[in-house]
Amino acid sequence: MPIEHEIRDGALLWVRNPVTGVISYVIDVRGKSFAFTLGGREELNPDPPPPDPGALRNAIENCPFCPGNERHAPAELMRITPGEFPEWNGGAAAEGAPWVLRVFNNLFPRIPENLTGGRNESYIVVEDPRHFLENPRSVNDLMRTGALGEEHFYHLIMADVLLMRHVLANPTVCSVIIRKNQGRESGASQPHPHQQVIGSPHPLPIVEAEARAARDNPALWHELIDLIERIGLLIDRRDGVVSYASPIGAFPRSYDVIMPEFRGLMTELTPEALRPFARAIFRIIRVLGPLPLDYEIHQGGGLPLHAHINGRLYPYSNVAGTLNLPSQLVQNVAALRRALSRG
Ligand SMILES: [Zn+2]
Ligand SMILES: [Zn+2]
Repeated sequence: MPIEHEIRDGALLWVRNPVTGVISYVIDVRGKSFAFTLGGREELNPDPPPPDPGALRNAIENCPFCPGNERHAPAELMRITPGEFPEWNGGAAAEGAPWVLRVFNNLFPRIPENLTGGRNESYIVVEDPRHFLENPRSVNDLMRTGALGEEHFYHLIMADVLLMRHVLANPTVCSVIIRKNQGRESGASQPHPHQQVIGSPHPLPIVEAEARAARDNPALWHELIDLIERIGLLIDRRDGVVSYASPIGAFPRSYDVIMPEFRGLMTELTPEALRPFARAIFRIIRVLGPLPLDYEIHQGGGLPLHAHINGRLYPYSNVAGTLNLPSQLVQNVAALRRALSRG
């Protein structure tokens, strides 16, 4: 079945997510107050009092992901050293850090290890040794993925590929998910920038649901991209990678990055073929900056390789299977395209 939607006078009125059935209605929310939703975010204060150096030191001393505290984390599986990544932009700031990124098991497996042959297949990838941004103005001025730089993010994705090979060598694993939470509002339990890689003994339910929808409508992804182009939500299309603001995402600010013609795993792509995919994800994360966000990379099950990125500051409000999309989204995407072309 084609993607259900309605366009009037060139503008989208509503669209139904073919995977979940949730309907997004486009609504003008310009007059609506988000003061309550956005309350309590002192880091949005442009002029906060100077941070207490003791509080900053304390946060670093108690962080199991900071350099010097490696013994407080599970045994290391792999690392990238500054020597292996000489262009690293943190070289001066994190002087003497023995690693740029580091991988170990998650202390708390997402999936019980007795379901994956007795091996814990949940991993943490610490993305950078820096806990805070340079000259933090508060304990909430945390280092973030968007500040790492495009080349660094590519190294992160390449580390994921190495890790995926390790995970997929476990014969009980059939599916791998890459997941990131940034910020309290997105459910991150550690402030230090990190990503998760999880091996699953069964097809992950969301990926399975997407594969089912794609079997029902083999033209699904192409139809979605055509629709997105028609309503002005396309962000970029180059080197086999398409990125867009999703009208059917879980949040009012959701973005997808997809390789429509590649239906495989990241481990099956050459490093050069992975580069444009990593770049497109990073460019969106960079623009979202310090906002709470999550992303997930979905692969396998016959699906085109893709990532979903959710900007979580904006309210998630699902009422009986309906979401509201701000009608200014088209203008926002135009502004995003301009910001990206400047970067
Ligand atoms: Zn830390
Ligand atoms: Zn997906």
